[in-house]
Amino acid sequence: MKKTNGSPEASTLSTAWDYTPSPESTEHIHLEKQYELFIDGKFVKPGAGKYFDTINPATEQKIASVAEADEKDVNKAVQAARKAYDKVWSRMPAAERAKYIYRIARMIQERSREFAVIESMDGGKPIRESRDIDVPLAANHFFYYAGWADKLEYAFPNRKPNSLGVAGQIIPWNFPLLMAAWKIAPALATGNTVVLKPAETTPLTALKLAELIRDSGLPDGVVNIITGAGKTGAAIVGHPDINKIAFTGSTDVGKLIQKTLAGTSKKLTLELGGKAANIIFEDAPIDQAVEGIINGIFFNQGHVCCAGSRLFVQEGIADTVIRKLKARMESLIVGDPLDKNTDIGAINSKGQLETINRYIEIGKNEGAEIHQSSCTLPGKGYFCKPTLFLNASQSHRIVQEEIFGPVLTIQTFRTVEEVIEKANNIPYGLSAGVWTDKGSKIFNLTSRLRAGVIWANTYNKFDPTSPFGGYKESGFGREGGLHGLQPYLKF
Ligand code: NAP
Ligand code: MG
Repeated sequence: MKKTNGSPEASTLSTAWDYTPSPESTEHIHLEKQYELFIDGKFVKPGAGKYFDTINPATEQKIASVAEADEKDVNKAVQAARKAYDKVWSRMPAAERAKYIYRIARMIQERSREFAVIESMDGGKPIRESRDIDVPLAANHFFYYAGWADKLEYAFPNRKPNSLGVAGQIIPWNFPLLMAAWKIAPALATGNTVVLKPAETTPLTALKLAELIRDSGLPDGVVNIITGAGKTGAAIVGHPDINKIAFTGSTDVGKLIQKTLAGTSKKLTLELGGKAANIIFEDAPIDQAVEGIINGIFFNQGHVCCAGSRLFVQEGIADTVIRKLKARMESLIVGDPLDKNTDIGAINSKGQLETINRYIEIGKNEGAEIHQSSCTLPGKGYFCKPTLFLNASQSHRIVQEEIFGPVLTIQTFRTVEEVIEKANNIPYGLSAGVWTDKGSKIFNLTSRLRAGVIWANTYNKFDPTSPFGGYKESGFGREGGLHGLQPYLKF
């Protein structure tokens, strides 16, 4: 029987029994022991013969060895992409290009079970999320952009859109396959070729995508996928024959990239960190809002750039909301990412768990009041309890800095003006959430919050037709939707 925190909601929500484990089968997946670099349509060994391990963060066990690309390998990949651009891809009629992109979308759907399981094994996210969110959205991005490939003149009337050439794309570990789709699909639809590097801790679904791309018959060299660490990413950024860099990751690395590219002719888009305000007014539907707050911060272990990590609750309902939040936290299941019951999976890496724990200590020392769910964490693997910080104040580091874990700070407010001021008073501006019964309040806030994406009475909803991107230190440029085509075109 589970422990409850004694509140009425907790005793109703926390059932008198535990769910029977319901692990997803891993029998249908195929993984190599060692992965090479995908260059010019083939898997090739890295020049220097170096490999690194990718591990399962829920078990701490090694899954596979993965090739580490150095500057020479990056150069080979860029040359392959350039040749494919000059000789094949830029000359192909757009309607033909679209067929390949459709085929990739269809093949992701066909292999979706395998992608979902590998995503959860390599990155730690619950299978429910990789199965129902990451993989279908990745396929949908390819479908969506396939549709634009031969309609660019209608997307940008009277502007004569032209491709750029070779795109270098660098992605993080929180949505490995989905971020690859966000990057590759619009680049191909606009007639560019690609060199993509996934994050060091989550390379496997990108490498599976490389196998799929090889099987799809996409001409050699149009997409090259190379693995490695930050140095590999820096070599892509610094390569003279790349026309555009698309980067998603931390603000620190984004700033470094922007400095490196200053004065060059390379185009750049940066999708960086966030620290979203989730704002709940007294007239909000409280139970739905509590679900939205839980989803906003605990979804994907809080490894979400647009996570609703700062809760602002209007004073009159603060006690009720906090009581309901605590109760709902008690019913969250933390554990095996492959179990279909799991709500919160493993933290992506040991390093990230240390960062989160460091911030939890900082929060306590700053004087905020900590509350964690009473669940027991698995004995092995990298896990973190869902955590609230009550009475947080605007100057606290846990309020100002991105933690990128399942940690929510709670502040109260009285007026609309006060909450807008506090929500905007932060270096980031990626996303925000508003919960209220009043349409007028929604319109007022959405026009005054400095955030690229604002959800009203919902949270963490994504769609390929909808542009995504930040203000301030959350970066610039948009991905998704019609806007997502533009960074890959010149006019
Ligand atoms: P990160 O450390 O910046 O890494 C992102 C990618 O850049 C990885 O592939 C990384 O390789 C590579 N990299 C590291 N140093 C580099 C360098 N000097 N030059 C070029 N590439 C380099 O970020 P992360 O920790 O993986 O991801 C978490 C961050 O991403 C958070 O801040 C989050 O908010 C942000 N994010 C933003 C969005 C958005 O759309 N705005 C979406 C998702 C995540 P290694 O893995 O080998 O280090
Ligand atoms: Mg891993």
